[in-house]
Amino acid sequence: MTYDKNNIFAKILRKEIPCDKVYEDEFSLFFNDINPQAKMHVLGIPKFPCKNFSDFINKADHNTISSFFKSVQFVIIKLKIEESGYRLITNSGEDGGQEVPHFHIHILAEEKIGSLR
Ligand code: 5GP
Repeated sequence: MTYDKNNIFAKILRKEIPCDKVYEDEFSLFFNDINPQAKMHVLGIPKFPCKNFSDFINKADHNTISSFFKSVQFVIIKLKIEESGYRLITNSGEDGGQEVPHFHIHILAEEKIGSLR
């Protein structure tokens, strides 16, 4: 499957659809999830067009990958959740339950996140 340029997050990146922005830099955009699953639910996406985590790691260069993950940590500090804790999730493909085919990281925080099982 090739990257779908018309997925919702691609449209958000092109500013065709608005988002509640938390942070943006050259490589990444972070915004609040439209349907939050915790008191704090932020999505982080690289600006690089990629379907999922593996596609991102396989296709993006080292600087793009490292800048994205550094920005995840920057946002964790900005949101003041480093001490209280958080959960990072990325869903991939059908078995992973991925709905939007642009790689994204969920940052869940501000309450005790339930057990995975
Ligand atoms: P996935 O299931 O692909 O890991 O997660 C997709 C996430 O994107 C879901 O948590 C869903 O609520 C969120 N989402 C879907 N459409 C929009 C949108 O238009 N705006 C925002 N802010 N979040 C969206």
